[in-house]
Amino acid sequence: MSNSSATGWPAISVADAQARLTAAGSPFETVLRPVRGQLLKTWAKGPQTMRDVLARVREHGEKTFIVLEDERVSYGDFHKAVSRMAAAFVAMGIEPGDRVAVTMRNLPEWPVTVCAAIAIGAIATPLNAWWSREELVYGLKDSGAKVAIFDPERLARVAEDLAGLPALKHILVARGEGAAPLEAQIGPVTDWAALPDADLPSIGAPGAAMGPDSAATLFYTSGTTGRPKGAVGSHRAFTSNILTQQFVAARAFLRRGEIMPARPANAPQRATLMAVPLFHVTGFSAILTPLMFNGDKLVLMRRFDAGQALALIERERISTAGGVPTIAWQLVDHPDREKYDLSSLERVAYGGAPCPPELSRRVREVWPHAAPSAGWGMTETCAVFANNTAEDYLAKPDSCGPPTPLGEWKVMRPDGTEAATGEVGELWVRGCTVAIGYWNNPQATEETFGGGWLRTGDLARLDDDGFAYIVDRAKDMLIRGGENIYCIEVENLLAEHPAVDEAALIGLPHRTLGEEPGAVVRLREEGTADEAELRAFVAARLAGFKVPVRVFFAAEALPRNANGKLIKAELRERFAQPEPA
Ligand code: AMP
Repeated sequence: MSNSSATGWPAISVADAQARLTAAGSPFETVLRPVRGQLLKTWAKGPQTMRDVLARVREHGEKTFIVLEDERVSYGDFHKAVSRMAAAFVAMGIEPGDRVAVTMRNLPEWPVTVCAAIAIGAIATPLNAWWSREELVYGLKDSGAKVAIFDPERLARVAEDLAGLPALKHILVARGEGAAPLEAQIGPVTDWAALPDADLPSIGAPGAAMGPDSAATLFYTSGTTGRPKGAVGSHRAFTSNILTQQFVAARAFLRRGEIMPARPANAPQRATLMAVPLFHVTGFSAILTPLMFNGDKLVLMRRFDAGQALALIERERISTAGGVPTIAWQLVDHPDREKYDLSSLERVAYGGAPCPPELSRRVREVWPHAAPSAGWGMTETCAVFANNTAEDYLAKPDSCGPPTPLGEWKVMRPDGTEAATGEVGELWVRGCTVAIGYWNNPQATEETFGGGWLRTGDLARLDDDGFAYIVDRAKDMLIRGGENIYCIEVENLLAEHPAVDEAALIGLPHRTLGEEPGAVVRLREEGTADEAELRAFVAARLAGFKVPVRVFFAAEALPRNANGKLIKAELRERFAQPEPA
């Protein structure tokens, strides 16, 4: 049990709190169910498919769901829009299992399209809106999407390439005034605004080929071999986040010896500031899904700006902010912070990247009324797998908490044996919310998910209470803000430049972003290229967040071990100087 404090916290151990909360008859009861050949813990009650979520969404009626600048969408109107979109997909011949690609910034049309696609049994395939033309075309091609929905900016980015995608039968554009000239290049484009109305009381045909463990989502993650891989998630994976979020709050109460009070019917509507993209699992599974089930308000921003975010927290009475640590840092550090009334904040929640212990202390200092909360998860775990919140987080600010009741984990040594408590090794996880596998990639699926455990590529240790501490990554990856960069993708590209002999990507420490990519390059003897040229070379082909902020030139061969693998630690020591405070 954790260290007791003078205030009597904790009143009960984490294990006992979990056992009580998941016991038979509790709202958080868990039961073992067969999931893809394993008996795994699932929530006994609660929504299990998108159909269940949408049934609840409809009940929220006139409540505000989405706010974007001066637009406001009610739950009722959202439900009608999902209905209309679902009917349009069916009319287009979209069938269960077909991929529906969604490529747009955070607009209200994003959740409409994704929910409609999933509800009819199709696989929603959100693509990263920051991707370059080449990356977007790769995502469309790899997923074999039958229909793609764009905003005008992204449609223009790939317009010349769409005719070369034989699987793609339908193209839609949202907010596409002015998109008509593109039709000469692309062929017919359906205007979102012209879709016929439909108002189905219940969306998703009962008995359709869709159950809790059917495929629902395809989220791309960076790939160890250079190309992004699509992780296929089930209905159960994203819907489980609804009870998981409530469970984590109830656990914090029980650790204080209290029962979580029911929220009074007349309590002000809770609101979340969505400062991260919807197209990652954090946005969709961890934030959007529980929020819409609960009838809370989602406040979107066209582009994140910390000053505007503070003004929105005041204007919209935001109760939850955060997303990734970078966003939380920018809010607590902002020079205008004290000019705003931020008293509505109840929770500052983040994850998806290392969460510096100092951040939890800063959040508590700046907003004593708001509970800081850190989560650990991956695209392959379909969002939150572990969470550390409230007193537990303040007591162990460098931990991402224990797993949720649906998850199990263990730390493995390189020889395949299980590490002892406190010993660092690779974190392996399993549970009903883990992805089904990688799309169209049995080899990578076997390597990562084989044997029923997901090998996370994170190096961690566990303590006596079952809390995990992520200490490093075994995978050669950087996280800039919340965006992952697999080094090999940028290294392979730099090596294609005619002047480059070899290249390595390393993380340069950055206080709020965590790290930024820096390249170490050795030119060919006859090669000439400067920093600006190499940065432009990457920028023309990959998303902006992957472009090295610095290029260092090495005169000698880059350091490698006996197997020819780059010794990054040596390069980091030479080139990645810590940022001045
Ligand atoms: P993604 O698939 O983009 O969500 O990235 C998943 C990876 O982000 C994990 O494998 C970790 O390396 C990292 N990550 C996520 N959450 C945390 C956390 N709380 N602390 C440290 N690293 C994290």
